Amino acid sequence: MSQELPLTRLSQGQLNLLKACPRKFQHIYFEQLGTHVSPEQQEHLTWGSRFHLVMQQRELGLPVESLVREDAQLQHWVTALVNAAPEALTKEPQTFRESEHCRTLSLQGYLLTVIYDLLIEESSCAQILDWKTYPQPKNRQWLTHDWQTRLYLYILAETSDYLPEQISMSYWFVKSQFGPQSLKFTYNQLQHEQTRQDLTQQLIKLTQWRQRYEAGEQFPQVEVSTGRCRDCNFAVRCQRTSESSAISSKDLLLNLANVPEVSI
Ligand code: SF4
Repeated sequence: MSQELPLTRLSQGQLNLLKACPRKFQHIYFEQLGTHVSPEQQEHLTWGSRFHLVMQQRELGLPVESLVREDAQLQHWVTALVNAAPEALTKEPQTFRESEHCRTLSLQGYLLTVIYDLLIEESSCAQILDWKTYPQPKNRQWLTHDWQTRLYLYILAETSDYLPEQISMSYWFVKSQFGPQSLKFTYNQLQHEQTRQDLTQQLIKLTQWRQRYEAGEQFPQVEVSTGRCRDCNFAVRCQRTSESSAISSKDLLLNLANVPEVSI
């Protein structure tokens, strides 16, 4: 008898992981295997959480002094962001604003979930703002294709009366070298339809992989040629260490040698 599939809630992070490598998704969410987090990464994550907390408290009109008093760097970057984005961080009447605003959308048996760092709704447009504490990526395309951008815009269009053209999303890279920098993404009906198609296909695939996994088959692995296995914590488990890659290359050469037309 087939078991009820356990996972129903999906975030942008999980969609990005699925896109990067379905097998990694399996290791983390079905086998509950953790990935190693270095002390530097942990420190960065903790700092990022504190930054988000300060911004949320500020938005709610609550005092933030106790949170920033001991951390001059945190205070510096919060002030820098407020100065760099006054229009986004100044409350206007007639505007709905909410930090850590959560929305969900049901699609293909999954509950897609987003949390906006700040949502600002006006009569004719809506803005999603997201604070990033890592450096601004050199390639804007990377963020255009990232599931965070796509899913955040998609869900707002699906769960509000705004047309896609009335919605935008801005990332603020708080710790940029010359002060906070932003990248804004506009949206339109064409992108919305494309996201609907891609999302639907991805979710259908996920359901198939989950059903096969229940029957004993593993999720697909990413191609070796992407180079993603090199720094992956699961390389040994996946037999994708440099040693096994070397063996794969050798096997490939042996296979080519068996092709009669090719003389080596
Ligand atoms: S080692 Fe490669 S195939 Fe295995 S989980 Fe990591 S990225 Fe995916």
